[in-house]
Amino acid sequence: MKISNEQITQVNTQIHNLIKAGSFYGKKLEEAGVSEIKDADDFEKLPFSEKNDLRQAYPLGLMTAPEEEIVRIHSSSGTTGLPVIIPYTAKDVDDWAIMFKRCYEMAGITNMDRIQITPGYGLWTAGIGFQNGAEKLGAMVIPMGPGNTDKQLQMMVDMKSTVLCSTSSYALLLAEEIEKRGIKDQIHLKKGVIGSERWGEKMRKRISEELGIELYDIYGLTEIYGPGIGINCSYNTGMHYWDDYIYIEIIDPQTGKTVPDGELGEIVITTLVKEGAPLIRYRTHDLSRIIPGECPCGCKHPRLDVIMGRTDDMIKIKGVNVFPSQIEEILREFPETSSEYQIRISHLDGKDTLRIYVETNGSVDFADLSKRIAARVKSKIGFTPLVKVVELGLLPRSEKKSKRVIDERYE
Ligand code: ZN
Repeated sequence: MKISNEQITQVNTQIHNLIKAGSFYGKKLEEAGVSEIKDADDFEKLPFSEKNDLRQAYPLGLMTAPEEEIVRIHSSSGTTGLPVIIPYTAKDVDDWAIMFKRCYEMAGITNMDRIQITPGYGLWTAGIGFQNGAEKLGAMVIPMGPGNTDKQLQMMVDMKSTVLCSTSSYALLLAEEIEKRGIKDQIHLKKGVIGSERWGEKMRKRISEELGIELYDIYGLTEIYGPGIGINCSYNTGMHYWDDYIYIEIIDPQTGKTVPDGELGEIVITTLVKEGAPLIRYRTHDLSRIIPGECPCGCKHPRLDVIMGRTDDMIKIKGVNVFPSQIEEILREFPETSSEYQIRISHLDGKDTLRIYVETNGSVDFADLSKRIAARVKSKIGFTPLVKVVELGLLPRSEKKSKRVIDERYE
């Protein structure tokens, strides 16, 4: 999805405001000699921004609007070192709520819904983002915040909540509690809006079945407003994102070059109208791809596939970026294989090779299965692996997914 002329004009305004304010990124752009871009090529030459750099701007170095216009800050949960502080103007807060309202609408949620919000409130963008969007929509908010499952379930029953906003793990916990307590017939939930962490199909199915609800993945990050910049529609063909507020490109995380639509890579986001802390080409380190073509729902906003992992998980082989969950996904299409597998990458005779070890029971033709899996990998990922089929129980069992990938090229 090439950047449009309108988006280029918007980026130029962002660049101009950053430089004028002399904020952290304004100075960086000035140092890089950037004052304006003319086309998509120029855009792709703009320097990236990174979370580590954002930390250097602590506490308020990112502030790009005059202080009297800043109405709030949020902070991303830094696991190490300084947190990142993002200042918001009233317009930023309102824009975020508009985007979030669109997300609810995409999920078919209306002002007659009762939305129970379980993500946390505070410096973190989650709870308040869900809340502002719901109020913009005109729905009734039940602002619970996290934890206190007894109270959570009591309110869910008594208030007849129809929408649950939650992380996938908390939704699962609630689903299990509801089953344990035998109160499923008192629950009125119809939909779940789930913050997009990477979660398996199995977990999704379980939550959806136990609670009897449709699930929607919502995407976002504190550095770029917060949750609410994209969500899947009922066709579940990826998350529509709001390209009048943000521009998304997918890059090869190793080379930094933009990849064509449909190819997997790192999500890089540029804000188009942000005032408090605009970000140009912000590297999220989330892996996904832009889904080409139009969605059957008719919505013109482009689509991002589900988040498939972090850039740190990626393996590069024969010039193609691969990551373990892609292969895991393909193996799941073969019910005759067990849930165990191993991926080994080695460098032999000047070439990278990727071997996939899978298990099956004795009733299956090993050679045929190996051929079918290899063909599927070729058609889905773009190269042919060596697939070794072994007897059930031969592969090592481990809790950790990382042990399933062995890169012998660096050993
Ligand atoms: Zn759609």
